[in-house]
Amino acid sequence: MSLSSLDSIQIVLVGTTHPGNIGATARAMKNMGLTQLALVNPQRFPAAEATARASGAVDILQNAQCYDSLPDALHDSQLVLGTSARQRSINWPVLTPRACAEQALQATGKTSIVFGREHSGLTNEELDLCHYLIQIPTNADYSSLNLGAAVQVVCYELRVKALAAAEADSETEAEPPVSAHEMELFYEHLQRTLVDIEFLNPEQPRHLMRRLRRLFNRAQPNTVEMNILRGILTAVQRKTPRQ
Ligand code: SAH
Repeated sequence: MSLSSLDSIQIVLVGTTHPGNIGATARAMKNMGLTQLALVNPQRFPAAEATARASGAVDILQNAQCYDSLPDALHDSQLVLGTSARQRSINWPVLTPRACAEQALQATGKTSIVFGREHSGLTNEELDLCHYLIQIPTNADYSSLNLGAAVQVVCYELRVKALAAAEADSETEAEPPVSAHEMELFYEHLQRTLVDIEFLNPEQPRHLMRRLRRLFNRAQPNTVEMNILRGILTAVQRKTPRQ
């Protein structure tokens, strides 16, 4: 998975009152590498305040799609996640932003993450269109974040998850560890060398070799690393007079 998986995630703002929050959303999105913004019935847009708060992210505003209804904005989405500051009376499945990032990045196709109005959030009818509800964990006595701040938190979790997935992918592409047989040849070589330098007494081996096995098995050396280890042992043996 690469960071381009963030391109398939759309941020949807419903009925935003303050254009400054639309600008802050564009900025938060661009900082975190998201590109698709949809606006459902914004009260004022385009607006100078939105452009000012977007700072260098005006391209996101220019490419934003405007819709008359939430279903229109969601028409090509396979997964829809709604956000809410409040516990709702009806029980929608609730996710943390971290768990939501996992769902969104695993999904095939387009995902929409929907944010509500500054004063009243999303209606129950709008939440009915969502598969899950995302709640940012907050102080129970003061749970509502500024809209732009809520978008920032969710987009940050998406980026962290996308980075971790991209890193895991590049690790799997890295050189694989050597085989169990090659590890055994290495342990034989190591043991012989340790005996030669009188670090290991073959009469009283105790647990040394087992401990060393645990250490090197944990490291899972690849071919290049194994060649270095074997090279060191050979060099040590060359310098050690045999009894
Ligand atoms: N009184 C409204 C507050 C809306 S805040 C309500 O109770 O829903 C504006 C928007 O910011 C919300 O609709 C939601 O999209 C987002 N938001 C704010 N705080 C949030 C939180 N703790 N968890 C998830 N989303 C939050």
